[in-house]
Amino acid sequence: MAVPCTTGRDRSPPRLVPWHADVVHNPETVVHVEVITPREVPLGGPRAMTVRRTLPQRQRSLIGAWCFVDHYGPDDVGESGGMLVPPHPHTGLQTVSWLFSGEVEHRDSGGAHALVRPGEVNLMTAGLGICHSEVSTPQTTQLHGVQLWVALPDSARSIARGFERHVTSPIDLGGATLRVFLGTVAGFTSPVRTYSPILGAELVLAPGARINLYVDPAFEHGVLVDSGAVELASTRLEANELGYVGTGVTQLTVTDVGGDGARLVLLGGEPFGEEIVMWWNFVGRSHDDIVAMREDWQAESDRFGTVEGYVGDPQRLPAPELPHLTLRPRTNAPTTNAR
Ligand code: MN
Repeated sequence: MAVPCTTGRDRSPPRLVPWHADVVHNPETVVHVEVITPREVPLGGPRAMTVRRTLPQRQRSLIGAWCFVDHYGPDDVGESGGMLVPPHPHTGLQTVSWLFSGEVEHRDSGGAHALVRPGEVNLMTAGLGICHSEVSTPQTTQLHGVQLWVALPDSARSIARGFERHVTSPIDLGGATLRVFLGTVAGFTSPVRTYSPILGAELVLAPGARINLYVDPAFEHGVLVDSGAVELASTRLEANELGYVGTGVTQLTVTDVGGDGARLVLLGGEPFGEEIVMWWNFVGRSHDDIVAMREDWQAESDRFGTVEGYVGDPQRLPAPELPHLTLRPRTNAPTTNAR
């Protein structure tokens, strides 16, 4: 059947949108939304940025392969000092940098040197090991965005370092503007390479708009509210909250209920199906994995390479001490929408 895409304010007939015309909406599906509230985490270092972390949380570790969601700003750089993160390592993951405002200079040991800007996704693949620095540029007055991590499946954990940058195009959905930075949303696909079925997008709702997105029922989804207040299905989400929807759902409906419009980050993926151990900047599969990664970084092993051109002190962020306990895999909460 055809898929109506309606906006709340304008009274024109529902727009017919071409994608997913083969999907039959099942109105009997009740969409359960789990509301994940952020916790504030000071990142430390010479400039004390505080972020709002919604993933991982005690109640949920993963959404698809998304394993880390930090949301920050808008910060007045004149007050906060901006972002200044000296070279530090990563393993077993991809970092996805997405800005709403500001500009960040990225350098990594794979040789990439790039500027992260609004609407442009920077994806760094750590694989076996990489290190990078992130510094907001002098012309940045306001810093606002998300820092996201994607866990690499076991089959790709040891791949080589990599870096990709993609300038997204705004897609007018009628009442909302979509930018797809990873995977496929509403029939639009990002060219950035991923290693598991996953999606990531920014969605800006016009004041009063209501949008239906047809989604893959094999995916679980998260909707992070950057600004505004929305209803996801029939659950209200305030700014900075993450609404989680399990698998088995074919349609996500989001409505701007704050009245001023809303900016959202949509994340999704097939349930990851592997247990991961996360500590500091590392993703592994066991305590011993993490111990080895930490030792390699402290020993300045070739595993991580070196960042060229970073000006600052220290030249490498030392790893914190390991806790005096055995690191355990994170528990993966049930992922189905059915209750
Ligand atoms: Mn990093």
